Amino acid sequence: MSSQWIFLGGEFVKKEDAVVSVYDHGFLYGDGVFEGIRVYHGNVFKLSEHLTRLYQSAQSIMLTIPYDKEEMEQLIVETVRKNELQSAYIRIVVSRGPGNLGLDPSSCSNPKVIIIAENLRMFPEELYNQGLRIASVASRRNRPDVLSPQVKSLNYLNNILVKLEANQAGVDEALMLNDQGYVTEGSADNIFIVKNNTILTPPVYLGALEGITRNAILNIAAELGYNVHETPFTRHDVYIADEVFLTGTAVEVIAAVEVDGRKVNDGKPGHITNHLLREFRKVVVSDGTQCYDKSQTKAIV
Ligand code: PMP
Repeated sequence: MSSQWIFLGGEFVKKEDAVVSVYDHGFLYGDGVFEGIRVYHGNVFKLSEHLTRLYQSAQSIMLTIPYDKEEMEQLIVETVRKNELQSAYIRIVVSRGPGNLGLDPSSCSNPKVIIIAENLRMFPEELYNQGLRIASVASRRNRPDVLSPQVKSLNYLNNILVKLEANQAGVDEALMLNDQGYVTEGSADNIFIVKNNTILTPPVYLGALEGITRNAILNIAAELGYNVHETPFTRHDVYIADEVFLTGTAVEVIAAVEVDGRKVNDGKPGHITNHLLREFRKVVVSDGTQCYDKSQTKAIV
């Protein structure tokens, strides 16, 4: 088996050699940004949108990524090719880089870019057929005016805390509310509910990341002719919804069939959720950046 190659600080290194300094401020303080992207049959889904979000997150925290977007796009494609992957999950990390022990980022002069591409499955296929059990948790989403959820930073403690609470509650995923009790999102996914054939998702200003899968689903649903609205809702609306589903790069589109111990409708993934998942799986192979030309795709399959 060929070894896994990771792009780290300007070169490809073997997985076992891919290590960063203990003085890296990404490690010491969560000071950096990241993206998670999927590759479907050699197509990096919505690569341009992911890069836009990465560069906007970096701009917001005054972190200079040492490559422009085109160079970054090439490096990502190269990482997929070098690992001979057709379907994969890509993690891009840009950390502030090594500095001294104080938190002042001005001691960090060499931001580190890391690109990992590997096979990753979030949930087994049977969970897509069965649906997830989710529960609202006591920890609230960071207030957007304090730490914007649009900055996809390496500081994911807010999300980790809610995931811990979900684990403690014995469910698959957390439902995060904002400081006013409105539904925001999961620990690493956006939430949608369906009521009377209308599809609803919270506006991101309530405190959710503007997910790229979320936006893709909003477009797909509108093109399929569904009524779609971004509107605030509470846990009550989730409890009485006809369908509930989550979206994200890692989870794709997955039903939630139980919320806080209440069965959603008949306790099975709904037909609109299933319809959107089928359509989503059709577009992911073409909407994005191709890593291989046709002859290469054949050679590697
Ligand atoms: N919310 C949070 C907090 C996330 O970390 C993610 C994963 N990036 C999402 C939502 C879903 O976003 P996307 O569809 O862009 O992966």
